Amino acid sequence: MQHEALIVGAGGAGLWAALELAKAGVDAAVLTKLYPTRSHTGAAQGGVCAALGNQEEDHWEWHMFDTIKGGDYLVDQDAAEILAREAIETVIELEHMGLPFNRTPDGKIDQRRFGGHTRNFGEGPVRRACYAVDRTGHMILQTLYQQCIKFGVKFYDEYHVVDLLSDGGELGSGGRAAGVVAYRIADGELHTIRSKAVMLATGGFGRMFRVTSNAWSLTGDGIALAYRHGIPMQDMEFYQFHPTGIVGIGILLSEAARGEGGTLLNDAGERFMERYAPTLMELAPRDMVSRAIYQEIRAGRGIGGKDYVYLDVRHLGRAVIEEKLADITEFARVYQGVEPITQPVPTQPTAHYAMGGIPTDTDSRVTRDEHGTVVPGLYAAGEAACVSVHGANRLGTNSLVDLLVFGRRAGRRMAADVGGWAIPGVPDDAADPSRGELERIRSAPRREQAARIKTDLANVMMDNVGVYRDEGLLMTARDTVRTLRERYRDVSIDDKGRTFNTDLLEAHELGYLLDCAETTVASALARRESRGAHAREDYRGRDDVNFLAHSLAYRGEGGPRLRYKPVTITQFQPKPRTY
Ligand SMILES: Cc1cc2nc3c(=O)[nH]c(=O)nc-3n(C[C@H](O)[C@H](O)[C@H](O)COP(=O)(O)OP(=O)(O)OC[C@H]3O[C@@H](n4cnc5c(N)ncnc54)[C@H](O)[C@@H]3O)c2cc1C
Repeated sequence: MQHEALIVGAGGAGLWAALELAKAGVDAAVLTKLYPTRSHTGAAQGGVCAALGNQEEDHWEWHMFDTIKGGDYLVDQDAAEILAREAIETVIELEHMGLPFNRTPDGKIDQRRFGGHTRNFGEGPVRRACYAVDRTGHMILQTLYQQCIKFGVKFYDEYHVVDLLSDGGELGSGGRAAGVVAYRIADGELHTIRSKAVMLATGGFGRMFRVTSNAWSLTGDGIALAYRHGIPMQDMEFYQFHPTGIVGIGILLSEAARGEGGTLLNDAGERFMERYAPTLMELAPRDMVSRAIYQEIRAGRGIGGKDYVYLDVRHLGRAVIEEKLADITEFARVYQGVEPITQPVPTQPTAHYAMGGIPTDTDSRVTRDEHGTVVPGLYAAGEAACVSVHGANRLGTNSLVDLLVFGRRAGRRMAADVGGWAIPGVPDDAADPSRGELERIRSAPRREQAARIKTDLANVMMDNVGVYRDEGLLMTARDTVRTLRERYRDVSIDDKGRTFNTDLLEAHELGYLLDCAETTVASALARRESRGAHAREDYRGRDDVNFLAHSLAYRGEGGPRLRYKPVTITQFQPKPRTY
């Protein structure tokens, strides 16, 4: 099989890229291990931001600044400028595609407040998040999927990509992308698909933590596949914990609840954010709010002395709750048996978003070193990529806009590039390594169960590499991940069949999670400072002299090798970060 361009992943980033390619008349195909509209983008709740200024004054420059400060100055400022400028036209384009946004009384797109988004460079909250109830991602995904169908994008649904192909050498050392190897879930057949260009849009890897908002499928596939072919993972030490997840299971209660005026309370009924972020309070960036919740819990002020606090929306009244927060209040009812209209909702931080990922330039082309050397024919966007607009901490609503802006740029760039290229050749035995690996797992005698290894991984990552870290915790995590890797060599499964063998795929995905975990721990150990979501109790301050740089973790014998890449600073010099 062959296509001019292949996109791995049918979330917002992959779909918008596919749409651009199809509109440009390129023969593009999307491979996805899930049915497209089950991609995690469909779970996004709160909103997508753009400085439309529909209800109050706003400017893309303010959005750019908030993004950079929110990311604790690790953001590449050229990329943040593109994000903030193009947010506006992409949201309007979505509106023209028919996305049913909530409206103001005069018919404009309604906008609400969200953490870290401010007026006039930090004076107070601004209404910047465009939304469709608390189902914004669902609407984006459905709208883009419709458009892709309309423009004739070819979909390979339930094809699990298990390898990347290259021509002229390894991807990390001068080779070009040449296609993928994909496992058809329905019957277990392996397919080699050749292509001039390949885009990785496989989303995040929250499943490496015990308590997470992420879907089961978010196992870092594309990031790990690139890593195995010599491409580094960038900024892996920065993983975001969202402040408000359902206790124990991590399902998200959107920041929109606080954007609409919801408050956080400790056991004494105190709005404790007053002490941590006097200006923005509950609408401070997520890293700060999550740390504040941990501090309250540690000081014994969690509810009943336990490990959670309250999210309170009672004062918003039934109408606001039902019109603007319908889904999340339903989650509280279903999963916790709590009625948010009359009761405060128990909540605790949940692993949510990967700031790091596959390094790219602002045209979504994958780069492989600190000089920005482009890997020909390979692209990435969305949560799998690190362009980097989120730096050390992403602001709420900035991921959906990242998908739109850099998904669109990826599609446009691929369309421009493939015209001059021929379909590369790949050897007949290109699928053999994947076949060998999958057969090894399938036929292994019963020894190590994937589920056990995964549980141990999720526990150590949650307990040692979570909101707060220090050298001792991280060293233990490093040793544990190493041991888990050794156990993984003996991984075995119960289902030996070929039809819809999810047992096999989950065991295979665990390998990706282990890759992501190994680089997360190594990068976190090496970064001896606290910046954004990476909070070291043994190195409390931000250290711009030594660490104002992106980490690049390469696969190496005996563990990842680290290098560093400078941050692009255009207008905003690093300053202390207070809210
Ligand atoms: C509960 C929740 C709420 C959120 N709310 C918001 C919000 O309100 N605002 C905001 O800005 N952000 C939000 N986010 C973050 C945002 O939704 C995600 O970062 C974003 O949707 C990721 O999109 P994506 O296109 O990169 O990938 P995803 O939408 O995650 O899609 C990944 C795709 O890759 C495919 N795939 C993966 N591996 C393979 C493989 N090996 N082979 C083939 N296909 C593969 C999957 O099938 C899927 O189609 C939220 C996230 C969560 C979890």
